[in-house]
Amino acid sequence: MTKDMKDIVALCKRRGFIFPASDIYGGLNGFWDYGPLGTELKNNLRDRWWKDMVITPPIGPDGAPIEIVGVDSSIIQNPRCWEASGHIGGFNDPMVDCKESKKRYRADHVVVYLPKDGEGVAVSFDKDAEDDEIEKRLKKLTKKTPADFETAKLDQVDVAKFANIIGPDVKEAGTLTEPRQFNMMFHTYVGAAAGDENKAYLRPETCAGIFLNFKNVVDSSRVKVPFGIAQVGKAFRNEVTPRNFVFRSREFEQMELEWFCEEEDVPMWFDFWVEQRTNFWLSLGLPKSSLHFLDVPKDDLAHYSSRTIDVEYQFPFAAPDFDELEGIAHRGCFDLTQHAEFSGQKLDYFDQPNNRRFVPHVIEPSTGLTRGVLALLCEAYTVDENRPSGVYMNFHPSMAPKKAAILPLTAKEDHVPTAQKLYMDLRDEFVVDLDIKQNIGKRYARQDEIGTPYCFTIDNDTLADGTVTVRERNTMSQERIHLDKVKDFLREKIKG
Ligand code: ATP
Repeated sequence: MTKDMKDIVALCKRRGFIFPASDIYGGLNGFWDYGPLGTELKNNLRDRWWKDMVITPPIGPDGAPIEIVGVDSSIIQNPRCWEASGHIGGFNDPMVDCKESKKRYRADHVVVYLPKDGEGVAVSFDKDAEDDEIEKRLKKLTKKTPADFETAKLDQVDVAKFANIIGPDVKEAGTLTEPRQFNMMFHTYVGAAAGDENKAYLRPETCAGIFLNFKNVVDSSRVKVPFGIAQVGKAFRNEVTPRNFVFRSREFEQMELEWFCEEEDVPMWFDFWVEQRTNFWLSLGLPKSSLHFLDVPKDDLAHYSSRTIDVEYQFPFAAPDFDELEGIAHRGCFDLTQHAEFSGQKLDYFDQPNNRRFVPHVIEPSTGLTRGVLALLCEAYTVDENRPSGVYMNFHPSMAPKKAAILPLTAKEDHVPTAQKLYMDLRDEFVVDLDIKQNIGKRYARQDEIGTPYCFTIDNDTLADGTVTVRERNTMSQERIHLDKVKDFLREKIKG
C-alpha cells in the first residue's frame, strides 16, 4: 500500500508530532515546530546518534573502540569563517525565475525534455514530477511522447536554448530567466549598528564549528589521529523552494561527524563509515529495500569532495525513487587548510611517534536529524483497515515517543490505584503514558496512532492474581504477565 504524504502530515498534526511554525498566524513557509511527541521522537534519534558516536563509539578495524568527542558550537561565528568555507560567494544555487508564473526554481531541480530531432519546443518539469503527469503534459503541449525527448537538468542546458523551453508551470516557451546565483545564508547584524561591518550569518551547516575548534580540541584533550569530533545542532538555509514537509526546510537540525585521519587511510575509513551508518539506519527499522546508496557522480560532487556516497531513503514523495537522508563525504583537507589560511593559525596535527606534522584528511557522515525524523515517521506509518484507528505507527520500540501505556480497564476506583502504582514504578526508567479516561478501544486506537509499542491493561484479574494484559501494537495480540515482570519485559523489548 503506498503511503500518502498528506495523510502523514495530517497524523503528525492531529497527534502532536509536528505543527507548522506560527500556525495561528497562517504558518511560515519552510519552518516547523515539534509537538510533544515529535520532540520525544527527535530526542530519541539524536540521543541514539550521540550514544553511537560519542558515548560508545564503534569498534575500529583494529578491534579497539575508535575515539570520538563532542562539541556544541555557536550558531553565529566570525563571518570570515564563511569566506574560508566558500559559503560567502560560493554557497549559491543557480536559480531561474519564471516571468509568467512568478515562481523561482533551483536550476538543478528542473528537468528539461529536449526534442531529440531538435524540432519544436522543449518542456520542463519539476524533478519530482510523476511519469504519467510528464507524459500527459508533453502530449498536450507537443503532441509527442517521452520517447521523443532526451532529458537534462536545466543548469546543464545552454542558456541560448532557454527561449525555446516551456517553464514547469506555464504553457508558453521563453519565460525563464537566465540562471542567477542566490545566497542561501540567512544574515543578521551583531550589535546595535546594522552596517555591513556588523553583518553575520546563521550557520548553514554545523560542521564549520567543528573545524574552527579543531585546534582547541587537540590542545585541550588527549585525542590522537585518527579521531572524530561530533556535533548536533540547528542549521539554517534560505531554501528557495522548501517542500515535502520537513524534508527541505529553512531551519533544520543536523548531526555531523568529522573523522580526521591520514590521507592513505581514507579508503578504509570511508568504507568503515558507510557500513556503520547503514547499520545505524537498519537498526532503527528502515528496511534495506527502502535504502539506496548513490555514489555521487563526479560532476555533482561538492567542490571540496573527491568522493561522496549519499544514503538515500524511499520517502513517499520520491517513491519509487529515493532521496537523500545522509551524505558521507571525503572532504580532503579542504576545511582545515582553508581555515588555516584565512585565520593565519596553524591547523595541522603533530604526530609524536613519527615526529612529523600533517593536515589530516576528513571523512564526514552528515545527516539531517529532522530529515531522519521524517524518514522514521514515513517508515512507521502503516495503514491497517482492521483496526479502529485505521492506521498505526510502527516505530522501532527504541524510537517510539512512548514506550508503553498503562490503561486501567475502567476509571473505577479499584483499577486506578494499581495503574498509578505501576506508572510510578516505571516512569523513572521509561517514558510511559498513564491514560485513564475513555473506553479502552479508543485508548488503544490513540496509542496505535502515536506508535506506543505496548499497552498494559489493569483489570479485575490484576487485582485477583497480580497479572496485567500486555497488548502488542503491531499484532494486537494480548498475553498476561505478572506485574513484577513488567520492567524486565520492557527492558528486553526496548533495547536499541
Ligand atoms: P541539497 O543538495 O538537497 O540541498 P545538500 O546535499 O546540500 O542538500 P548537505 O549539505 O550534504 O545537503 O547536508 C547534509 C544533510 O543535511 C543532508 O543529507 C540532509 O539530511 C540535511 N539537510 C540539508 N539541507 C536540508 C534542509 N533544507 N532541510 C532539512 N534537512 C537538510
